[in-house]
Amino acid sequence: MTAPPFFPLRRALLAGLPLLMAPSLLRAAALDDPRLDSLWRCMGSECPGYVYDPRLGEAAWENPPLTPFEELPDDWSCPRCGAGKLEFHRFAR
Ligand SMILES: [Zn+2]
Repeated sequence: MTAPPFFPLRRALLAGLPLLMAPSLLRAAALDDPRLDSLWRCMGSECPGYVYDPRLGEAAWENPPLTPFEELPDDWSCPRCGAGKLEFHRFAR
């Protein structure tokens, strides 16, 4: 019994895995970004309370984890009350 014919193809795919993982490696480098150490609290007077954590991102506007607050779109607003970015105050984690 010889090895199945698809075996070399499987080896080639495994060899290519590091290339496929390159984007996630770039992401990991961003873990050093000091902007990820800040939390941003919504100060909107109507807000039931919301804190933006850049390490978690924010699902309502589809901002992935590791998105610094500064890189949220200018028209981003609080997912709880709709207050704009200017109403957010930064504080230490
Ligand atoms: Zn809010």
